[in-house]
Amino acid sequence: MAVIDKSATRSDSAGREQIAVKNPLTGEVIGHIPVCTADDVRQAVARARAIQPAWNALSIRTRSNMLIRWTQLIAQREDESIAAIRRETGKNRIGAFEEMLVIDRTVAYYARHAPEWLRRKTRRPLLPFRHTARVYYKPYGVVGFITPWNYPLLNAFQDLIPALIAGNTVILKPSEITSLVALHMVDLMIQAGIPKDVVQVVTGAGSTGAALVDQVDYIAFTGSTATGRKIAMRAGERLIPCSLELGGKDPLIVLNDARLDLAASGTLAGSLENAGQVCIAVERVYVEAGIHDAFVERICHYAGQMNIGSGDGWDVHMGSMTNERELLRTEAHIADAVAKGATLVHGGKRRPDLGPLFFEPTILTNVNHTMDVMREETFGPIIPIMKVRDADEAIRLANDNQYGLSGAIFTKDLKRGEQLATRVESGDVHVNTTQWIFGVLSAPMGGVKNSGIGRRNGPEGLMRFVRTQSVVIDNQIGAWPMLALLDDGTLKLVRFLVNAMRRFPFLGP
Ligand code: ADP
Repeated sequence: MAVIDKSATRSDSAGREQIAVKNPLTGEVIGHIPVCTADDVRQAVARARAIQPAWNALSIRTRSNMLIRWTQLIAQREDESIAAIRRETGKNRIGAFEEMLVIDRTVAYYARHAPEWLRRKTRRPLLPFRHTARVYYKPYGVVGFITPWNYPLLNAFQDLIPALIAGNTVILKPSEITSLVALHMVDLMIQAGIPKDVVQVVTGAGSTGAALVDQVDYIAFTGSTATGRKIAMRAGERLIPCSLELGGKDPLIVLNDARLDLAASGTLAGSLENAGQVCIAVERVYVEAGIHDAFVERICHYAGQMNIGSGDGWDVHMGSMTNERELLRTEAHIADAVAKGATLVHGGKRRPDLGPLFFEPTILTNVNHTMDVMREETFGPIIPIMKVRDADEAIRLANDNQYGLSGAIFTKDLKRGEQLATRVESGDVHVNTTQWIFGVLSAPMGGVKNSGIGRRNGPEGLMRFVRTQSVVIDNQIGAWPMLALLDDGTLKLVRFLVNAMRRFPFLGP
């Protein structure tokens, strides 16, 4: 059963192809979305461009307040919002709530800090008494977002928030698998007072996304490395900036001194959040030899206690997978590992009794780096565990991968953990926890190597959506006509000032 079933496509009254959207929990069709054409995208961008100056003319506070009102509407309709997310993803209730929580806090964070960060700044010139230099921060114009299906609220809207606050208008091309959530959320934005052309959704698949890259002034993408590379190439041709949040194969290291039960349960949670369909999920576990066997025993123990299912209570630990393609890849990675000598110690099977895309938490031991499960991204609930000699070997293996998004180290020695963390090649690392980078909105998040370009969150997450303009003003006090930028008189003054700056660097630029 595919969540997107091409055989279920049909046409709308304007002749656009329509894609059927299915509920992964049941397999039933819950709606259709039109495949917007390049012409639809062009028109949407023209509308966004037309309204952008008026949107930018509003104060940052006014724009932020509309977004705060939006998050209030989401919160007031918590059950409806959670249901909308769960209907298209099949995730558990807690997972859907986490998306709302992060969005709520992201709006609060940027509403608080953006006015200061976007205020014009004065910079020190070489001739401080003659020149005044200022830096202005200007929105790019129309920013496009192409987003995936695993976190249809969080991954689609978290980046959009700072772009809007900075004065851009935005166009979102959500995943074809979860577009109904995006449409629902944008509807709430309009109810919160945001003019409708300021935030628009164009639905469709890859062709619609590609058309968006061709039209906008900045493109922010979250999704696979293969698609991200195509988008970066097109952005390069058009010379527009882009940010790319791509795949991951995040390592987790357990040292001998780790608190065993916290490490085992923490690894489980970090691997199985959203049934493993998270770019920053734990996908490789390296355990020091001295604790390895006990760790495997404890993680199997905790895996056996997990509550898996489609129920909408807060007590469900793991829901359904969303995407059949990822389920097939998960099965292929398990089969490849077992064929190459891995031991399946827990799970490994589908759970059709729970729903068409449920898969058991799966634990593999005796894995090595010849196996796909240790090299390629697996978007599924698999925990491959490898025994290592010591921390140095763990770090070397952790870095032996094309990706570098997140990572984690479990140890009682927090100082050593932090030192080792800085040796992991990734955009963020956790000590004794995982994925909590999502709870630190002031810290930048993003990838190195094939995991992407650019950062979300923190000041970096806002400032990427503005271009700087520097203005240099000569106040003309004591000025005389000159035929070159420097003449004898000014040269003397410049030499004097530069000497002073050399002696007293705090006077310098
Ligand atoms: P996944 O299918 O796992 O979500 P993708 O990277 O294929 O990963 O898709 C992420 C987003 O990129 C989706 O919204 C998808 O429709 C869009 N997309 C896919 N191919 C292209 C493309 N060639 N150009 C622009 N967007 C694309």
